[in-house]
Amino acid sequence: MDPAASFPSPGDPSAEEFRAHGRRVVDWIADYLSHSDRFPVLPKVRPGDLSRALPEKAPARGEDLAAILDDFERLIVPAATHWNHPAFFGYFAISASAPGVIGEMLCAALNQQAMLWRTSPAATELEEIALSWLRRLVGLPDAFEGVIYDTASIATLHALAAAREAAGLDVRRKGLAGRADLPRLRVYASEEAHSSVDKAVILLGLGQDSLRKIPTDEAFRMRPASLEEAVAEDRRLGWRPLAAVATVGTTSTTSVDPVAEIAPVCAAAGLWLHVDAAYAGAAAVAPELRGILAGSDRADSLVLNPHKWLFVPFDCSAFYCRRMDALRAAFSLVPEYLRTSEGERNLMDTGIQLGRRFRALKLWFVLRAFGAEGLAARIREHIRLARLFASWVEADPGFERLAPVPFSVVCFRAKAEEKTVDGLNERILEEVNRTGEAFLSSTRIRGRLALRLAIGHLRTEERHVARAWALLRQFRSRLA
Ligand SMILES: *Cc1c(COP(=O)(O)O)cnc(C)c1O
Repeated sequence: MDPAASFPSPGDPSAEEFRAHGRRVVDWIADYLSHSDRFPVLPKVRPGDLSRALPEKAPARGEDLAAILDDFERLIVPAATHWNHPAFFGYFAISASAPGVIGEMLCAALNQQAMLWRTSPAATELEEIALSWLRRLVGLPDAFEGVIYDTASIATLHALAAAREAAGLDVRRKGLAGRADLPRLRVYASEEAHSSVDKAVILLGLGQDSLRKIPTDEAFRMRPASLEEAVAEDRRLGWRPLAAVATVGTTSTTSVDPVAEIAPVCAAAGLWLHVDAAYAGAAAVAPELRGILAGSDRADSLVLNPHKWLFVPFDCSAFYCRRMDALRAAFSLVPEYLRTSEGERNLMDTGIQLGRRFRALKLWFVLRAFGAEGLAARIREHIRLARLFASWVEADPGFERLAPVPFSVVCFRAKAEEKTVDGLNERILEEVNRTGEAFLSSTRIRGRLALRLAIGHLRTEERHVARAWALLRQFRSRLA
């Protein structure tokens, strides 16, 4: 007899029921992935709408899966922002590709908890294999060992924790608080660096004052000479320079810091160099774009996000480190109940979390299903579309481009008098996004409000970009 049958409510379905519901789910996913443009990109909901539509208490008696799936379609989907919509152009556009979704489904089914090699030989070894495939695809040397985290923010946190440990200050044992023997510590990043660097220094007890923002040039790239000066000045004033974060593909404009010039500055000053290539690192999969990682082979660590521009469903962040020993020195801590004698690599030693998901599975599915050439072809197409859009902006007297377009993101704005230009662009953005046909976000570049069109979805075609452009022009002429 099925043991589940002795329980009062449906709960865990029989294999037959699972098959039936599972088929419905797979059908739904297949329709969704191929027609996600049936939904408005931004949901037509206001804050609290979904909360009000749901009961305040969990049900006492189990409910049928069919009813839950009905409510998923009726209530949850209409409140979802459709990152999988081909006209999602906000932030960094991402895709859950079908192979990645299949990998994610199987990951849930296997339910691996990969803290130790023994608790999942498959997850432990596939992580190493998938990451070394990816490392070769982007042209990083074999000296980089990889580990998968959830996000780039967490990867950068780990990089700076390793840097702190490698500095020989005995922070692991003694901490930072109440120590008269420590100088103040400094971390450097450009003024365009991601806020995750700020969060990392906050969490590591270095404090936000420890983060010195280095000025950028006219193309929003860190000035290596300014970094060198800042390090020298800090030393004179008694700071201890610890690490620098260079960005390949900054979040606002996707500018690329000159890592090849930054690396020697860091080497000379004994700084840990971390490269944040969360978005743009993926572009190095195309051989002709490999130059964007020039100098990164000399970094101590680097992060790139397969969940950003490599079509792996969120979340999956690839962290590479040439000094994994420093990361282990920071985080390896083996309680008696987890001691093993196998001498294998245990993933719990390279991070703060104990339990880890089997994220490598979906990455492996995607790398195999697309192949290096398939990935590179999509990335090239996204860059082509972004350059095309930029050319429309440049040719239109009502608009201007606000930053170079090294990858698939265009920063631009509608032109107007200085005192009304930000307001005009805010209204245009609001109107375009309200249509549900496209979604763009905005940023500030040297204090100016910029609209930002980011291309990264697998199913984005020229017609989607053209439609966004038509809407932008239409609202500009209506509102200007
Ligand atoms: C997106 C991005 C991040 C943050 O990524 P998460 O994975 O969401 O933490 C960090 N740095 C850069 C340059 C990014 O583009």
